[in-house]
Amino acid sequence: MTSPPACLPPAHASDLHVDEVHRRIDALIARCRPVLPAENIALDRALGRVLGQDVHSPVSVPPHDNAAMDGYAFASSALQQGADEPLHLRIVGKARAGAAWAGTVAPGEAVRIMTGAVMPDGADTVVPQELCEADDTTLRFAPHAVVAGANRRQAGEDLQAGGLALARGERLGAAALGLLASLGQTHVGVYRRLRVAVVSTGDELLQPGQPPRPGAIYDSNRATLSTLVRQLGAELVDLGPVPDDPGVLAALFTSAAHQADLVLSSGGVSVGEADHTRAALAQAGELGFWHVAMRPGRPLAAGLLQGAGGHAALFLGLPGNPVAAMVSFLIFGRQALLQMAGCGPAVARLPPLLRARTRQALRKRPGRTEYQRALLQPVPGDLPVVDVAANQSSAVLSAMVAANALVVLHHDQGSVQPGDEVDVLLLDALG
Ligand code: AMP
Ligand code: MG
Repeated sequence: MTSPPACLPPAHASDLHVDEVHRRIDALIARCRPVLPAENIALDRALGRVLGQDVHSPVSVPPHDNAAMDGYAFASSALQQGADEPLHLRIVGKARAGAAWAGTVAPGEAVRIMTGAVMPDGADTVVPQELCEADDTTLRFAPHAVVAGANRRQAGEDLQAGGLALARGERLGAAALGLLASLGQTHVGVYRRLRVAVVSTGDELLQPGQPPRPGAIYDSNRATLSTLVRQLGAELVDLGPVPDDPGVLAALFTSAAHQADLVLSSGGVSVGEADHTRAALAQAGELGFWHVAMRPGRPLAAGLLQGAGGHAALFLGLPGNPVAAMVSFLIFGRQALLQMAGCGPAVARLPPLLRARTRQALRKRPGRTEYQRALLQPVPGDLPVVDVAANQSSAVLSAMVAANALVVLHHDQGSVQPGDEVDVLLLDALG
């Protein structure tokens, strides 16, 4: 392992490994109120919702054997002659999707058939029209043009009647909604939408639209985090900006826990004089842990807030720096949100990492996980290449906009040389 340059900031032994943070957040979630399947809604309103129960197919899809190509349906016994001579079959009818041919295809006969049409009785194979010569009554094609059973889709090939079509915990996207439609469903049972509160802390925060003021900056975290929350299908409870006042913060957290299942704040989690998030969390509930061995995003205050009816809400106090807030949410908040919303573990967890070759040397000290903003580009016939942004400051949001990926430098990993393979997380996969 390459030894890290002395100028890199030190890793802190007491900081938690990102894997341990995931485990501890899971343990906190286990103490929160679970969301319940609540509604039966129309498919066209179900995008991004989480399936509340297993769906078994009431029908087979497709319901009947059908043609996979435009061509001619016939009995494959005709192919078993072993000769090289072209086959001559008599065309006895026509089948289109939605208009089956009612007869039985006898040996020596064929039926003109279009893609999706029901296979006529007696026929088990379709020869594509491109491989045939035909006039109105006679079909000719080489016997080796197709094998027995070719170009026929089997009934139930997609779904068997009574079989599991979709499992509870699925996030409903285009393919899943299409699948439900293929079963003839108009409605689907989903979990209640998770309610997620977002609040920005800081005396320096201006809201977009307000005139600039010396020393003040515009609140970007609320826009970023609200967007991510909505993108993940949750209902946003926008709690606005709050000043750096411990009493105000604690009161707001308590009220947030009564309105939301998950409360996200940004800012105020470090050790500065105006950083009151942890104290407010301890007052309104329980501080679980903070300080993660990661960059960006070392400060993170996780815990529980006491909500309505003795139920707890999960609290994640994200860092104030805009990139740190976003990356911390993507790594921890996203998974917590999806899990709490009812998604199965396979759906909620981070998508698989890709391998890519870095074009830059990346300096890294073992002992923390780093997520570097980067641009991933395909290379024909080789691994994709990745270029990390020159400025990895956790305050520089523009580099996040320019990035399509995060290079993941794992906890025990050291520096990386140009041309080395690295793991990469695609940002689009986190939506
Ligand atoms: P803090 O942890 O509160 O000290 O914040 C760290 C840095 O992030 C400071 O430079 C803050 O001004 C900045 N920051 C905090 N909250 C926000 C926000 N909502 N939008 C943009 N920048 C923020
Ligand atoms: Mg602050």
